[in-house]
Amino acid sequence: MPSKSLPEAFVSRIKGQRPDADSFLSAIADTPWLSIRSNPFKTPDASRCLTLADTVPWCPDGNYLKDRPLFTLIPQFHAGAFYVQESSSMSLSVALSVALPQLPPHPQCLDLCAAPGGKATLLLSRIGDRGVVVANEVVRSRAWILRENIAKWGSPSAIVTNKKPDEIAASGISFDLITVDAPCSGEGMFRKDQTAIDEWTPKAAADCATRQREILADIWPALKTDGFLVYSTCTYNPDENERNVEWMAEELGAEVIGLPMPDGFGIETLQTTAGQAYAFYPHKVRGEGLFICLLRKTGNSASRHSETKKKSRPRAEIKESKYGSEYTRGLRVFQKGNDLIGFPSSLSTAMVDVTNALDPLLAGTPIGSLLKKKDLALFTPAPELPLSSAFRPGSITEIELPKQQALKFLHGDSDLLLPDGTPDGWIVVSHDGLRLGLAKVIGKRLNNYFPKEWRIKMNID
Ligand code: SAM
Repeated sequence: MPSKSLPEAFVSRIKGQRPDADSFLSAIADTPWLSIRSNPFKTPDASRCLTLADTVPWCPDGNYLKDRPLFTLIPQFHAGAFYVQESSSMSLSVALSVALPQLPPHPQCLDLCAAPGGKATLLLSRIGDRGVVVANEVVRSRAWILRENIAKWGSPSAIVTNKKPDEIAASGISFDLITVDAPCSGEGMFRKDQTAIDEWTPKAAADCATRQREILADIWPALKTDGFLVYSTCTYNPDENERNVEWMAEELGAEVIGLPMPDGFGIETLQTTAGQAYAFYPHKVRGEGLFICLLRKTGNSASRHSETKKKSRPRAEIKESKYGSEYTRGLRVFQKGNDLIGFPSSLSTAMVDVTNALDPLLAGTPIGSLLKKKDLALFTPAPELPLSSAFRPGSITEIELPKQQALKFLHGDSDLLLPDGTPDGWIVVSHDGLRLGLAKVIGKRLNNYFPKEWRIKMNID
């Protein structure tokens, strides 16, 4: 019997759903699994600062942790060397292993419901600079958190937007891959999050299913024919899961594609009338509850959900710049107002297009800004620049600090003990070989340019 107090209607639905309901429900009272995913573009890896246990079987760069550290006090966490992600969510890796090799060169990808950034950073890890990843979040405050996490992940091929699904579809930008990690009734988070239990009602779960269909119908026109859509939720509710997949097949003309989930780790295959989907249950896998399904847009898609026509947009307000290329590697530099932005060369046309169409919060690698439009002498580097994997080492003096000093920097302090011989001017502060942020040295004074909203708020002494 469950030892955590769960809503009666939920318990009775699970009992109707599963013969093993008792062990399922009692597993909700167990301690949740803790796992991280390493950033393939940043070294050294997370094993230097965390006690890693075994690899997550469905995600090669995911690891369980042996103990629960205080991540805030690990500088490498702030450097984007790893992302704390629930292991079941990493199953997106399996869907991407099927979809990405079938996409055209330089695909455009969209993570529609992206905050705080778990699935988007996984997508960025897999796509590198081969394709564009638009990470979108509709709730403004959450979009800023997403922006922070994506900036720290450091991929120059990322764009962060704050749009509603129908606004994206209306923009005329279309995508080869869309992930919809939908807002849901959150039953799979019951073990981790008491609020998910407190907010659950049968009506809230039913409303979620309706809202998910609206989101899917709104974004469907932005998916190209033959493009892929990964649909996931963190709930066990069949109306939000299997029934929505069946609805996508019937209403939108989507085809369900099976996935090579690894055997022997408790992942269940669910048969829908449209094909196979996959479920992670708390008493069977080393992870929380999750549902995932890969779908493809066929040529038979219903016409009322047909693709968006490419809109003609006003002339680009972004122009290629002759300034700033010395700070990055492999990027073409563009100027928007006084700001310099770097895009991977092979993706730059597409990224300029998306930037013009979707008014992003973050686009590519911010390099810095010119005080006057044409004067590099008055250049201020962007706080995100040193975190980018495209930062050119040596273009700004790098100063390595020991852990406690690095934490003081991340806390926003200015009284840092810098090594003798630290020159005046801009410096990049790093720890363990990982770049953390910028400061400016003027004689004995240091100005800390680590963004206020990213700073460690707790006492670090
Ligand atoms: N994919 C994220 C990750 O891996 O870190 C988690 C996404 S969370 C399950 C769902 C997100 O959908 C939330 O950030 C929520 O704000 C957003 N959302 C809520 N209503 C939405 C809507 N109508 N359209 C699109 N996204 C919505």
